[in-house]
Amino acid sequence: MKYKLIVFDMDGVIFTDDNFWSRMHYKYDTVDEGFRLTEKYLKTDVKKLADEVIGKLWKGNSAEGFFELIETAEYNPGARDLFAALKKKGIKTCILTSGPTELARKAQRDLGIDSVYGNEIVIKKNKITGEYKWLSLDYSHKGETFLGICRELYVNPQEAIVVGDNDQDIFKFEKAGFSIAFNSNSEKLKKAADAVIDDNNLMKILEFVK
Ligand SMILES: [Mg+2]
Repeated sequence: MKYKLIVFDMDGVIFTDDNFWSRMHYKYDTVDEGFRLTEKYLKTDVKKLADEVIGKLWKGNSAEGFFELIETAEYNPGARDLFAALKKKGIKTCILTSGPTELARKAQRDLGIDSVYGNEIVIKKNKITGEYKWLSLDYSHKGETFLGICRELYVNPQEAIVVGDNDQDIFKFEKAGFSIAFNSNSEKLKKAADAVIDDNNLMKILEFVK
C-alpha cells in the first residue's frame, strides 16, 4: 500500500449536509445576523466570528437544538461499506473538520473511524455556555492542522490521501500525497484535486486507495 492514512473533511463528505454551522443558524433563528457575520469575518478574523456567534448569538440557549441536529445528520451513501473496506486494507482513517467535534464523534462511533479533530462549542447543564475550543483561529488552518495530524500519527503527508468538498479544503490538498474533490460545487477545488468524484457515493473513493 502506497497510502497509509486518509483524512476526510466531514460536512458534505461524510454527511450529506455541507455546513453544520449554517444549520445551527436556522435552528436558533440567527440566520440574518449569522450569515452577515460569517460573510464579514470567516476569512479574516475567525476569533471575532466565534466570539460574536457562539459568545453572543447562541450563548445561554438550550443545547437541545444542537443535539437534535447531530442526531438527525445523515450519512452519504456507502459510508459504512467504505470504512469497513478501509479497515480491511489496514489504512488509518481520520476526520478533520471545522464543524463540531460532537458530530465527528458520532461518525467515529458509527463507522469505526480511527481519530477525529473538530471544533467544540462548550455545553454545560444542557446550555450553550458561549465558550468554545477551536482547532485553530486561522481560516486556512486545515493545512497546518493536517500536517500536525500526520506528525502525530507518524505518517509522511505524501503517504496521505485527503478528501474534501469546498474551497477551505484546498490548503490540505496542497500538502497531501493525493487529493480527491468529492461531490463538490467548487471549480477551484476540482482544479486543485488529483481526482474528482462528481456524486455523493463514498464507495467511489476506494478505487483511489492503493
Ligand atoms: Mg465540507
